Parts: sequence; C-alpha cells; structure tokens
Amino acid sequence: VSGFRQDRTTGEWVLVAPERARRPGSNQAGGAAAAPPAFDPGCPFCPGGEHRLPGILEEMPSEGPPGWLTRVVPNRYPLLRAEPPGPATRDEAGTCAPAQGFHEVIVESPRHDADPSRLPAPELSALLRTYASRCRALRAQPAVEAVVLFRNHGRAAGASLRHPHAQIVASTQVPPRLAAARDWARAHHARGGRCATCEQLEIEQRDGRRIVEATPHFLAIVPFAARGPFETWIVPRQHEATFGRADDAVLLEFGRLLQRALLRLRAVLGDPPYNYTLAFAAADRDAAWSHWGLRLLPALATPGGFELATGLPVNPALPEADAETLRRASLPPPQADESAH
Ligand SMILES: [Zn+2]
Ligand SMILES: [Zn+2]
Repeated sequence: VSGFRQDRTTGEWVLVAPERARRPGSNQAGGAAAAPPAFDPGCPFCPGGEHRLPGILEEMPSEGPPGWLTRVVPNRYPLLRAEPPGPATRDEAGTCAPAQGFHEVIVESPRHDADPSRLPAPELSALLRTYASRCRALRAQPAVEAVVLFRNHGRAAGASLRHPHAQIVASTQVPPRLAAARDWARAHHARGGRCATCEQLEIEQRDGRRIVEATPHFLAIVPFAARGPFETWIVPRQHEATFGRADDAVLLEFGRLLQRALLRLRAVLGDPPYNYTLAFAAADRDAAWSHWGLRLLPALATPGGFELATGLPVNPALPEADAETLRRASLPPPQADESAH
C-alpha cells in the first residue's frame, strides 16, 4: 500500500507516504482568489492588446466580435528559439549544446476571466482543435524531436499572466525525462510485444479502484504511482500513439472529460494551482510503444530537500483513496448548450 511504487508505463518510481499528510501545515487547499475582470486593458492577450504581441500565428475564427475564439502567438520570452543557433561550444567545465526549437502561447479565449473548466461546448471544441492543430504543425517541423503542450494555472504552478492560456514548446532534442520514459516503453514493448499503457489500462479496468471516470473513448484514472495528491491521467482506451488525430466529436468527448476532471479538483480543493501536460517524441508518432495521455497534477506542495536530492517524488496521499474522493466529487450540472446537444 504505502512504500515505493513504480509506474509500469514510464519506469519512474515514487514514494507513497500517507503518514506525511498528518504533519502540521500539510493541508494546503486552494483559497478562493478574487474574481478577475472579463477584460483587462493592460493584458496582451485581451482583444485590443495586439500591439503588445510579437505576431499572430493562427486563429480559430468566431462569427461575433472580436472575431476569434482562440489565438496562437509566439512566446515573447521563449525557452527555445527557431533561429539557427551558434556553433556548439566546448567548455572544460562541461558540455554545451545549442538549444533550438519553438515556443508558442495558445490564448484560450478572448475573455480575460474565462476558464477551460467552464467553456461552453463550441468554445471548448475550438480550444481542443487548436491544441491538436499546433501539436500537428510543430510535430511536422523537420528538426523537431519532441513536443510538449502544457497549461499552468495559478502562480504556484508557474502562471505569470491571468488571461487563460496554454503553452507549447517544440524541441530539436528529446528532453531527458521524456527520453527515459520512451526508452522504458520501447524496451517493455520489445520484451512482451505489448504497449505498457494498454496493458496498464486493462489492469486498471479489472481493478477499478483508481478509475475516476470512463467514457466511450477515454479513461480518467489516478495513476498507480501518482507523483502527488489527486494526479489524474486522461488516456485513450484504444492504442493511439500521439495526440491530435481524433475527429472533432472524440476531441470534444476528451475536452468534456478534462473539464470534469478540473471541476472535480475544484470541488475537492477549492481553486488549486495545477499543471496539465501532453508530451511526446515526434519520431514516435506511429509507434506501438507510444500511447498518449494528458497528465493533470495539482501543485499542492513545493518539493523539499529529499525530493531535490533523490529525484524521487513523495506522494502524501494514497492513489486509491484520491480516486474515490474524485469519483464522488459533486459536479455542477452540465451547461445548457451541452444538454441540448
Ligand atoms: Zn486578458
Ligand atoms: Zn497503447
């Protein structure tokens, strides 16, 4: 039950230590933040802030004003840049390698106070189609080896601007954690001829304790080796190597499941800071060992010295108990446009 756990799909270990939750000050639910305005004249992502953007790469048009539902812009402070880097340098203190790639921002709504958990179906669909379109576009860039889409919500999770947005980074190198997980999954497949995630999902369905919700095409689960309280994965039930290929109806099913996962967190924790991520190696776009999934993790505690020294996450919650709490969370009724669908 408690102790070390290894994730079959990535090979990563965690330490599950529920007794840690009893220490003082560990009960860190999200507080209710002040409601933001619907429009902020100083915000670069609000309509009218275009002069503060480095450019506009793509938009999902809307019929009414301001003419767009989502907008993709280059990140003004990119982690990686597209320009050819200088020559690799040698330094006796260590190895330097050029960093090259793309870093974009997906503005998720014209409304400064929008939240993906509450978008009505047409806007949610536009958001998911934008995610998919940018993943496909960047994956298709010749030198790109890895694509990472992520959303930071709340300051403690790394969000510096309130306006709802996600980010996408495409790198000409596969970052270490992705590379290790990929090597693990490939070796697993080579040994038994099966995708580790497909295998794990069969076990989860038989077991049932970690399933939060099932829909026709997806499972929402708390992973066996969750890295923190209330970590939730949304994974396609059938093998699918990369995100971004599903048709619009399946994409919307995925989006609604994601909305409910976010609403469950809200019901249990208030408005917690969180990150969600979708990451894959471009070369694995059709691989039998690669199975995409969205990972959602509330940012409830800052890692301490033990995590820093060992790289081993400590989860002070039992994944089985968290799944039950999330499963039982009471959700607000579906929005009007959804029941009419
Ligand atoms: Zn704004
Ligand atoms: Zn699979």
